[in-house]
Amino acid sequence: MSLVVMKFGGTSVGSIEKIKNVAKRVAKKKDEGYDVIVTVSAMAGETDRLINLIKEIEPKYDPREYDMVVSTGEQVSIGLLAQALKTMGYDAISFTGFQIGMITDGAHSKARIKKITGERLRQALKEGKICVVAGFQGIFPETGDITTLGRGGSDTTAVAIAAAMKANVCEIYTDVDGVYTADPRIVKNAKKLDKISYEEMLELASLGAKVLQSRSVEFGMKYGVDIMVLSSFEEKPGTLVTKEDKDMEKVIVSGVTCDKNQAKITITEVPDRPGIAADIFEELANHNINVDMIVQNVSTQGKTDISFTVAQTDLLRAHELCKKISKKIEASKVLADENIAKVSIVGVGMKSHAGVAAKMFKTLAENNINIQMISTSEIKTSCVIDEKFTELAVRVLHDKFVREGDDVS
Ligand code: ADP
Ligand code: ASP
Ligand code: MG
Repeated sequence: MSLVVMKFGGTSVGSIEKIKNVAKRVAKKKDEGYDVIVTVSAMAGETDRLINLIKEIEPKYDPREYDMVVSTGEQVSIGLLAQALKTMGYDAISFTGFQIGMITDGAHSKARIKKITGERLRQALKEGKICVVAGFQGIFPETGDITTLGRGGSDTTAVAIAAAMKANVCEIYTDVDGVYTADPRIVKNAKKLDKISYEEMLELASLGAKVLQSRSVEFGMKYGVDIMVLSSFEEKPGTLVTKEDKDMEKVIVSGVTCDKNQAKITITEVPDRPGIAADIFEELANHNINVDMIVQNVSTQGKTDISFTVAQTDLLRAHELCKKISKKIEASKVLADENIAKVSIVGVGMKSHAGVAAKMFKTLAENNINIQMISTSEIKTSCVIDEKFTELAVRVLHDKFVREGDDVS
């Protein structure tokens, strides 16, 4: 029998009414003759609430204890959904990450999935049961501790299960009816895409389009799992995330996105000698802090300034670490700026068209938006700007590249 993995996000399970609605969608799939595994997130707002609780006690919380607290939200949802299905007369069973053998590394609060053993899933499916699995959580076997997969991690749970269990498709049900050319909450006239390549979706997701967690797209791409993004409230076609095809290359810019969860650190008057950058960034990497854009100024009198961006959630820890490193390497000050955002344009067509970045800079300049940092890759250009201009930047870039079309002249 074909297997389908369905995933419902926080707003889709935000109330008992909505959980009953999800149960109906799942039951329908079962009635159509599919084997079904459902992954759910915590109820809307619950993960934020849990994070605030631990932050209230300690802003520089221990990530192990953070995982212990925030992983509980999903456990409530799976129990409720399994019960709703049972009440409707369906045979369902809920599982935590541990119970399905969701093995991760030990990077608490942003763990990576290593393997899914899945014995209990296989057994339950064989018995005809609907499996309801907690998203976002796993287990680090060396310590037996609960881990979580980073914000939005239930998407990754779902796609990883689809890959491990060789499902035909992974359906991600959410509060929008697909992937748009920009966040439809920011750009009212954004267009829904029928399909998008893994590469583009991966860039959009890594650059802030929270409709899918970027690691879920990585899994999809690596294991060739088709991901379908659909509305949990309406039955209509969604967006298919799949392998690149010829048609997709015709479009230069497929999407515009932004990420406000960014912060900038500047270390001033860093001695300009070999090994210094390695000292700084090795130390951050050893503490599991991902660094994104890095800019080093031209050095004057043997000293230079280094700026880089980190996730806002890592800022406190990164700032502390940089203060220590800066003493060791005899730099001057460490400045932290939370009020920045990254805006990006993404498209596989950028590979074969020149002038796209220049047009982006010009569009921002025409709107008096100053660019603080720039980074480019084959299929994207990103700029760091003042956070207060984020929505404006997304709208004007969307107007220029997506609405006016792809003329880069
Ligand atoms: P869920 O709780 O279902 O996981 P999320 O809030 O994580 O849902 O993701 C869905 C949200 O992603 C949408 O409500 C939308 O505001 C946002 N979003 C950002 N960029 C895009 C985009 N390009 N297309 C669709 N949605 C987007
Ligand atoms: N509940 C988690 C979060 O809010 C995971 C998820 O929703 O995907 O980030
Ligand atoms: Mg999400």
